[in-house]
Amino acid sequence: MIRNGQQYRDSIRDGRQVWINGERVRDVTTHAMFKPLVDIRARIYDMAHEAAHAPIMAYRTESGEPCSVGTKLPLTQQDWHAKRDAVNAVLDEAGGIVTRVGDETVGEMWSLYDGQDVLNEVNPQFSANIRRHVERVVQQDPFHVSANTDPKGDRSKRPQDQDPDMLLHVVKETDAGIIVRGARMLATLGPVSDEMIMYNLPGFRPGDEDHAIMFAVPTDVPGLRQICRTPYDRGTQSSFDHPLASRFEESDALLIFDDVLVPWERVFLYRDVALCNAIYPDTALRNHTAHQTNTRALVKLQFAVGLAIAVARSIKADQFLHVQQMLGECLGYVEIVKSALVRAEAEFETMPSGTVRAALPPLQALRAFLPAAYPRIIEVLQTIGAGGLMMMPSGADFAAAGIAQDVGLYYQGASGMASRERVKLFKLAWDLCGDAFGSRQLQ
Ligand SMILES: Cc1cc2nc3c(=O)[nH]c(=O)nc-3n(C[C@H](O)[C@H](O)[C@H](O)COP(=O)(O)OP(=O)(O)OC[C@H]3O[C@@H](n4cnc5c(N)ncnc54)[C@H](O)[C@@H]3O)c2cc1C
Repeated sequence: MIRNGQQYRDSIRDGRQVWINGERVRDVTTHAMFKPLVDIRARIYDMAHEAAHAPIMAYRTESGEPCSVGTKLPLTQQDWHAKRDAVNAVLDEAGGIVTRVGDETVGEMWSLYDGQDVLNEVNPQFSANIRRHVERVVQQDPFHVSANTDPKGDRSKRPQDQDPDMLLHVVKETDAGIIVRGARMLATLGPVSDEMIMYNLPGFRPGDEDHAIMFAVPTDVPGLRQICRTPYDRGTQSSFDHPLASRFEESDALLIFDDVLVPWERVFLYRDVALCNAIYPDTALRNHTAHQTNTRALVKLQFAVGLAIAVARSIKADQFLHVQQMLGECLGYVEIVKSALVRAEAEFETMPSGTVRAALPPLQALRAFLPAAYPRIIEVLQTIGAGGLMMMPSGADFAAAGIAQDVGLYYQGASGMASRERVKLFKLAWDLCGDAFGSRQLQ
């Protein structure tokens, strides 16, 4: 099925324990810090029901039921094209920079689905569990997030040598399931999710068995607390002064499992060091997740480069050859990402399980390329906008009787661009390349 926005909102009004700024959040759907992103996520659900978007966002199962393209198990090359189109449709509609728009976390599950033969050898229940979970995701259309690394602690020590209750681990096994304790970081949009999946990055050694687990829980499971990072926006900034931060801030949370019961049917790997180490390098996890993350990264790059061009044009800095050279370099990065993504889809592989994965080499190349290309684009934006980026008056100054005339005069752009328009453009650029919102994107 495909849920609508209201069903999503209703589903996250539950007993979840979310803390922000020392306050326990009673309702994430109405709290100023979470509402803008809840509204975007609700809009994504609603889009799939609308005639204009349904052909891109939804498909019909063999029984004729409409389901989300994002959660569809990829069985053909066309499925990957369709997923890219769906993510692009959402990003066009959202009109800003948001990251959790597709279902990259679902891709983490597909990689286990691919490996059912291996899971069967370990314990047939685990392969049945992942199959059931993937089917449930298609049927119920929940919003999934994941948290795959540990809180910092001491990176030189093995998990069991840290404070015993710090890192996520099993403390008890019961007939009903496993009891887990400890923390995980970091779950972007965890506070407004329906489900969370915990998997591991490699690096376990024999003796780390209690930490080598993989499972999924609903976000309101008893004993799970989320502590959000300090908000940048606090729900008080005007959309004029902070056009991105005021509308598109995605909260991040530390997850604390305080003796949480995970039923056996939600456990995918249990005390298995070798398999937990193998998930990242040896399954399609990197393929499935990177296709989605690079699809949105491409849109983010296009947005940043487009903004740099607009800033240059607004002050006619684009007439200078070195500025043209920098912008040309950035446009080249956009083309490289686009090309690698298309190649990844073109050179797909079909797995014995029947799933199709995009080719890994171009996706891996993007993993290495983007952390260099994106900061460079931000640097170019900073270079072209220069001091003007932080010299902008506030929206309130345009209405202040004593200075409104000054503001109208001294902030004009080139070719008759009115002050108000230029200030809006530079504030957009500053949110992306100078302020806290943009710093998080860069990080
Ligand atoms: C904006 C943003 C959103 C994110 N959203 C999510 C999310 O939704 N879900 C999620 O799971 N994660 C998310 N992450 C977290 C991301 O997965 C982690 O930041 C990443 O896995 C690195 O882990 P870490 O930050 O703990 O760094 P650390 O592991 O502490 O590394 C710190 C430094 O030490 C080095 N180092 C650490 N250990 C070793 C070692 N054993 N050998 C050699 N060098 C070492 C690293 O290379 C690095 O330079 C997000 C991060 C950011 C910035």
